[in-house]
Amino acid sequence: MRVLVATERTQGDREDDYSWTIPGELVMFGVICASDLRGTGRGCGCGRAFAGLHSERATTTAQVVEWEGSLDDLVLAFRDSLARGGWLDFGGTPEEVHGIVVETVMEMLLVADRYPVGTVLGTNRGEQYVRQQAEAR
Ligand SMILES: [Zn+2]
Repeated sequence: MRVLVATERTQGDREDDYSWTIPGELVMFGVICASDLRGTGRGCGCGRAFAGLHSERATTTAQVVEWEGSLDDLVLAFRDSLARGGWLDFGGTPEEVHGIVVETVMEMLLVADRYPVGTVLGTNRGEQYVRQQAEAR
């Protein structure tokens, strides 16, 4: 299965790029603040971010790679990161908490699945776009 990881590839191609993640770490889509959602042009930049699971920092570039682990490994990695970030402390039942984790994993998997391994992606308020095509094999 394909997943998204942080990458330095194509960083700096856009004036508004930033990268505070660790290259190669898994990323997810973070929460987008109201000012970025409105798209008034003065947002904080979170609308263009992939969130690193390990660093808990953001980047504007992610790459599609093949995941060698299991789906359970992926769910555990996401659960751990979301828990550290406090995103699971909403008083939900264990089933509701699990639902949030799975939803977050699926959101990333559905995007990664649409592109060949090697593709570099950007994201803008929930819409992904190709920054660099996968190299032909
Ligand atoms: Zn923001």
